[in-house]
Amino acid sequence: METISIANLRGSQSAIPITELDTLSSRLRGTLIRAEDISFDEARRLWNGMFDKRPAVILRCTGVADVIDAVRFARERNLLVAIRGGAHNVAGLASYDGGFVIDLSQMRAVHVDPNSRTVRVEAGAQLGDIDRETQAFGLVVPTGVVSETGIAGLTLNGGVGWLRRKWGMTCDNLVSVELVTAEGQWIKASKTEHSDLFWALRGGGGNFGVVTNFEFELQPLGPEVMFCFVMYPDHKDILQKFSQFAQNEPEEVGMLSFTGTVPADESFPEVWWYKPFFVVAACYAGSAEDGERVLQPLREWGTPIIDFSDRMPYTEVQKFLDADYPKGRHYYWKSVYLKEFTDETIDTLLTLNRQAPSHHSTIDIWTMGGAMNRVSSDESPLSPRETPFMIGIEANWDEAKENDHNIAWVRDCVEGLAPFAAPGIYLNFPGFMEDADQLVKTAYGNNFQRLVKVKQQYDPDNFFRLNQNINPQAV
Ligand SMILES: Cc1cc2nc3c(=O)[nH]c(=O)nc-3n(C[C@H](O)[C@H](O)[C@H](O)COP(=O)(O)OP(=O)(O)OC[C@H]3O[C@@H](n4cnc5c(N)ncnc54)[C@H](O)[C@@H]3O)c2cc1C
Repeated sequence: METISIANLRGSQSAIPITELDTLSSRLRGTLIRAEDISFDEARRLWNGMFDKRPAVILRCTGVADVIDAVRFARERNLLVAIRGGAHNVAGLASYDGGFVIDLSQMRAVHVDPNSRTVRVEAGAQLGDIDRETQAFGLVVPTGVVSETGIAGLTLNGGVGWLRRKWGMTCDNLVSVELVTAEGQWIKASKTEHSDLFWALRGGGGNFGVVTNFEFELQPLGPEVMFCFVMYPDHKDILQKFSQFAQNEPEEVGMLSFTGTVPADESFPEVWWYKPFFVVAACYAGSAEDGERVLQPLREWGTPIIDFSDRMPYTEVQKFLDADYPKGRHYYWKSVYLKEFTDETIDTLLTLNRQAPSHHSTIDIWTMGGAMNRVSSDESPLSPRETPFMIGIEANWDEAKENDHNIAWVRDCVEGLAPFAAPGIYLNFPGFMEDADQLVKTAYGNNFQRLVKVKQQYDPDNFFRLNQNINPQAV
């Protein structure tokens, strides 16, 4: 009997008869892809070029029935399962060498109900899919800042974007979540159904099942908004002005500022190429007119290298940074929360930026607060959220021979920022999940034990473990 070797939950391999896979395949509306199939190489590719994983099977689902069959098939045979949404997980968790991948990337439908101001989103959708449909009604879900990112991974671990201070994290806007459990059962979680599970899904990661649908509340915005994007030289006084503004900024202002190196690109004056910069970027979550007035001071902190600020469609704001993150580049990202942003912090950031081995790399400063702070521990495991700043350290580079150098730079940055750090870590920027158990405990703090209880209830055998894993045995 011909068999295929697939990684199992015991840490070894199971020989699965091909006839069983054929039977599974014949039931699907989607496609079962294996190494010999022509689409295998395209289907297995992850966004982060650091990973070149070759799963045994990729099951491309087109609906809930496929997901149920996929989970039951893997569960009955104790196979190790990875879940793939937008494949943008920086730690490459959407796949596994020799594993069984449940791939939702073809499930991208988005249905807006303008009357109830809600939207139902299939779990393989990318952020741009949601923006396209919701903006047709002048409505929006607050998501992340790059339109090709998957909604599933982003939401399940929080989700921060331009609108976070006005309307919270992406997970704060959830109304309900539909998922297939480790037992292969479809259930719906909301504030009134499986409410403990719903709480856990608002930040607890892909630990509890394969999500097939998210339902989000919608907010009114756009289609035109004011977007600020000013690139300054990396002068300390400009970061000081940034810091002062950040202390008192209105909730409508969602700033994402970053240090980096001016690209050798015709869009920028040649005299500045390869010199360090500080970008002040912000989207105003209100009328474009108000945004223009409120964001104007950010454009007057010095003589800019270039100022791309303008009124523009919200859908364009959401794509503004896309080109900076091509598929296949090498990426390693970590995060540090900051308790304060002092002159010493500024000196440290500027020095660390100048030490970056790659000119594609940035150190990002996310101002937190606003609506994000009004979410209690009863509502989301990602609470409390008192820290005023989050730093995202992004090493982005092209050549594999530069891997060690770039990874070391990120780790040096984390160490350099340690004196200013607040407790916690943001699991959407998790490095490669080194020291995963400790990382997860640090991320959830006092909510960790409650997450363990929910995991024990819905996935006591840790069937879903290729994620920011909450081990049901953890104490
Ligand atoms: C270019 C880029 C920009 C980013 N910008 C932001 C940003 O602005 N804000 C922010 O908060 N984060 C941002 N991120 C981080 C991003 O949120 C995470 O990388 C996230 O994991 C991506 O989700 P995905 O669906 O594409 O992940 P995938 O790689 O497809 O999946 C990652 C993990 O998510 C879980 N998962 C995925 N789908 C499901 C499902 N259907 N059911 C259950 N679990 C599932 C699984 O655990 C899986 O291992 C960005 C990442 C990139 C690469």
